[in-house]
Amino acid sequence: MMNELGFVIQQRPYPPEWIFALDTPNFAPTPELWRWIKSIFLNPEHKLFNPDHAHLCAYCYPQIAVMWARSGFRKQGRIVVGQAEKLMINAGGWKKERQEEQFYQWFNGMPDYLITIDATYAQQANDIDFCALIEHELYHIAHKKDQWGTPSYNRKTGKPNLEIKGHDVEEFTGVVRRYGAGKDVQEMVDAANQRPTVAKADVHHACGTCYLRVV
Ligand SMILES: [Zn+2]
Repeated sequence: MMNELGFVIQQRPYPPEWIFALDTPNFAPTPELWRWIKSIFLNPEHKLFNPDHAHLCAYCYPQIAVMWARSGFRKQGRIVVGQAEKLMINAGGWKKERQEEQFYQWFNGMPDYLITIDATYAQQANDIDFCALIEHELYHIAHKKDQWGTPSYNRKTGKPNLEIKGHDVEEFTGVVRRYGAGKDVQEMVDAANQRPTVAKADVHHACGTCYLRVV
């Protein structure tokens, strides 16, 4: 298992150096990060596969797009380092066209969902925190349920319907109560094999999506 985790860490994508330079774009699409997610957390063959994300396996980049942002942003006194969102352009005319054009330039298509990761955080974070952040954001893109609570599928494509989901507050506080805030490799291994536990709780306070939905 240690070797397996070491292997994962070896392959972990880092943001491009240029994003930290002055006078360079603040955002960078990162298809390699999506490939890494797919090959690890969404790959049933991999030991770190998490069945909780299985509904995402049917989706490709850039339907779910991933990008680096040069740095996080401040919100309610904390730095947000990750965010998952459903992309909706609430505008018309040139404003809509401008926004669409920007997404086409980044992703060569219009994403349905977008995960943004703070490049400065990713550069400095240890592997456990980084994996926890990625999985945390993946958890926000949930399998949509119908009115009877059954997971729903698109009638045309057969793919799972998705929706942005905030986490239950109790889920986080319960985890912290039981496991505390400490992190080590064993916890990461447990989290990857069962459900993200400690790591996820740690990331909660730094995720823009949670702030929007839960707090
Ligand atoms: Zn979150």
